[in-house]
Amino acid sequence: MKSGKLIVFSAPSGSGKTTIVKHLLQQEELKLDFSISATSRYKREGEVHGKDYYFITAEEFQQKINENAFVEYEEVYKDNFYGTLKTELERIWSEGKTVIFDIDVVGGLNVKSQYPEQTLAIFVNPPSVEELEKRLRHRQTESDEKIAMRLAKAEREISRAKEFDVILENNDLETAKKEAYQLVQQFVN
Ligand code: 5GP
Repeated sequence: MKSGKLIVFSAPSGSGKTTIVKHLLQQEELKLDFSISATSRYKREGEVHGKDYYFITAEEFQQKINENAFVEYEEVYKDNFYGTLKTELERIWSEGKTVIFDIDVVGGLNVKSQYPEQTLAIFVNPPSVEELEKRLRHRQTESDEKIAMRLAKAEREISRAKEFDVILENNDLETAKKEAYQLVQQFVN
């Protein structure tokens, strides 16, 4: 496999990392492409198969595990599997682009440990767990039970922030986007 660079954005759910990653993907000069993960979770309104995720069944996910198709995979939430496909990295590198990931903390550190020389791992730090809760409720895509699950996970994730190359504070989204751009630009050039 011809190998290139990887940029990992990890953060607790609701911290704004998806918005930051989408912003960076719009900057064509950075030559980034998104690693579309496979997941067995339900599709939210507005999400597109083959763009946001490859939405597959738990059985199909298991089959891909058996085929050794993943760089990393995880049961991020109970019965909700997410994984990075080897074919995604090959696809993006073959186009001469850098792979950008929006994945959870364990997955992000896993990618970093597999490609230590080629990876820039960025942790997006939310202002506080209280603010995170507010954002998750505002999003209105999850039940109370699921929000509680995401918040418990967030606290565990924040405790691992120091294992990343960079901690990007997201107190103000516009500032965070600019800082993210600079970090990525330096890394890809
Ligand atoms: P969501 O359900 O909100 O789309 O994602 C839940 C969490 O799973 C997020 O933290 C997201 O970044 C993470 N995630 C998405 N794709 C992957 C993946 O391929 N591997 C891992 N480990 N986590 C992922």
